[in-house]
Amino acid sequence: MKKLMPRDVRRIYWVIMIVGVIVALFGLPNENKALLIIGALIMIASIIFYYIFYRCPSCGRYLDRSTGQYCPYCGVNIDKK
Ligand SMILES: [Zn+2]
Repeated sequence: MKKLMPRDVRRIYWVIMIVGVIVALFGLPNENKALLIIGALIMIASIIFYYIFYRCPSCGRYLDRSTGQYCPYCGVNIDKK
């Protein structure tokens, strides 16, 4: 499987998260519980996706909230292709 670059993981994470928020917001005005639950599940899925894939492409360690250009563990440039 092709490794996702941390930059792409962040981008995909935000896209999924925003979709979840939008779905939940559609459910709010008419208290559509199904939409609220689906929205919440999409948001949770985006967080799980982030935790699984937001890793250094070189050493494979989880990058946590690090948004820097370099891996804090092995120093590799994580934004480079
Ligand atoms: Zn690393």
